[in-house]
Amino acid sequence: MISFSDRLSAILTAQKLLTRDQLGQALKWQVDIGGNLSDIIVALKFAGHKQLAAVLSKDLGVTLFDLKHFEIDPGIVKIIPLNIARRYQIIPTSKSADSLSLAMADPLNIFAIENLPEFRGFKINPVISPFHDIQQAIELYYPAVFKANINDLLEESISPVEIIKPEKNLFSSSPDIDYSGREAPVVKAVNLILEEMVKTNASEALIEISDKRLRIRFRISGLLKEQELSLNGPDASIIARLKSMSGLEITKHDVYQQKRFKTGILGRQVDFNITVLPVAFGERVVLRLPDKIQVVPDIKDLGFADYAAGILSQVSRFSSGLFLVCGPGGTGKTTTLYALLKSLSSPDKNIVTIENPVEARLGGINQVAAEPDIGFTFAAGIRSILLQDPNIIMVGEIGDYDTVDMAVKSALTGHLVLSSLDTDTATSAVFKLIDMGVAPYLINSSLIGIIAQRLLRKLCPHCKEAYVLNKKVTEDLKINLHDIVEPKFYKAKGCPHCFNTGYSGKVAIAEVLQFSQKMRELISALASEQAFRQAACLGGMQTLRQAGFDAALKGQTTIEEVLRLTEPEV
Ligand SMILES: [Zn+2]
Repeated sequence: MISFSDRLSAILTAQKLLTRDQLGQALKWQVDIGGNLSDIIVALKFAGHKQLAAVLSKDLGVTLFDLKHFEIDPGIVKIIPLNIARRYQIIPTSKSADSLSLAMADPLNIFAIENLPEFRGFKINPVISPFHDIQQAIELYYPAVFKANINDLLEESISPVEIIKPEKNLFSSSPDIDYSGREAPVVKAVNLILEEMVKTNASEALIEISDKRLRIRFRISGLLKEQELSLNGPDASIIARLKSMSGLEITKHDVYQQKRFKTGILGRQVDFNITVLPVAFGERVVLRLPDKIQVVPDIKDLGFADYAAGILSQVSRFSSGLFLVCGPGGTGKTTTLYALLKSLSSPDKNIVTIENPVEARLGGINQVAAEPDIGFTFAAGIRSILLQDPNIIMVGEIGDYDTVDMAVKSALTGHLVLSSLDTDTATSAVFKLIDMGVAPYLINSSLIGIIAQRLLRKLCPHCKEAYVLNKKVTEDLKINLHDIVEPKFYKAKGCPHCFNTGYSGKVAIAEVLQFSQKMRELISALASEQAFRQAACLGGMQTLRQAGFDAALKGQTTIEEVLRLTEPEV
């Protein structure tokens, strides 16, 4: 019987995708540098990813395998060592007599693995699963093997003369962590730190280097776990690598720098928040992992003030229309959307989402992942969702005209549509829609409400200090003191509980826009954004800034934090 790899190579050459000679060259490269054969073929410019994928899915007849809904016998997993599983993105799924079913992300890797000693005596029966699913399965089924001690790994891998090349423009889309084993030692060390954070569910990591010692402290379930390592010399390359990954200035050592960055770890995109603080002996890095959506909160548990939570819980009164959640990236919009969906969910309602990526699984809701790379955009997703006759549609984000056009059309044809928009305030969302090309009368007939939100740093409860703010300052800042006679505010001091930052955790604030007749008229008349915002405030909208001052009055955050993250009052 013809082997799978012979069939593959016959298909690749018959389709004139690449010659036998080119295939041979690519295989040799793979032996030398590792990695996926598809990637190498693309890198060598023999063929494009799309061409490869098209030919493989059409002609190969390999089954798509859903790893997520399949339990693998741990005894079978043991057949393949972890390093092979990771290197080639494979995981064995079942075994019968001499044949082994193998889920693979790249079927072309069959060439590399069929001759490995681990597979001797097995007839390999490949099935294809998405890269991310395989990554997750590997982490799920190899936990004991993977529990590498970061201490050991760091000691063997860090060299004091490592030179880091600045990587430009990687901050918004840092490449996924490379699991092929090709990276430089310092890259590997940084990856291990990030992985360790994700795996141990650490909320923070503090990295300090001084006097030939690298000190890493992880905060896990509120407690600090310390790793202290000896280095061959003072080594700043770890900090340089972290700065380059996150897009911070590598050469600046005497300023406070902060940024969010995203990178692929253990098969999913993870957001990190990095803060670099200059200290006497060098720099100190605090990495934070924003809270994952593990349990979808109820609306009342989102942390908003009562008035905002109250308006949110009224969205369920609508059976059609468009409701938007706004704010810059990383302000918790998805969590709010999920909480809203949870409040709307009931057995008699058909709820479908289109998301990129699906951040958490919601019970009783059909969630679809958008894949813009292959043309399955949000707009295309809504089109296919409408065929399922849903009552409620959640669209991850409105970012272009096609998406907003489909969202508005759905909202006007009997569907309740929830989505998010990247604007600073609730009022500016209306004008963003106009800028995107939505006619004012369509906005008026479809939009039912808008919430804009922020996450402010929460004061550390162990060290915050009260102070009285000068009356003139409260007046200048237009802080509504709600007739409190002796208003107290709090400042960040710093203690071991908060790594001396003064803050720990986040507090959510919101402004919620409900449309009055007057506001609808202003939209129709294409009035200025300022006039519209004034009308919204007169109509009772509490602004983000005021919501922030209220949180500061409650001792949850500082005035500085409110001023930094909210817009001035109009
Ligand atoms: Zn503290």
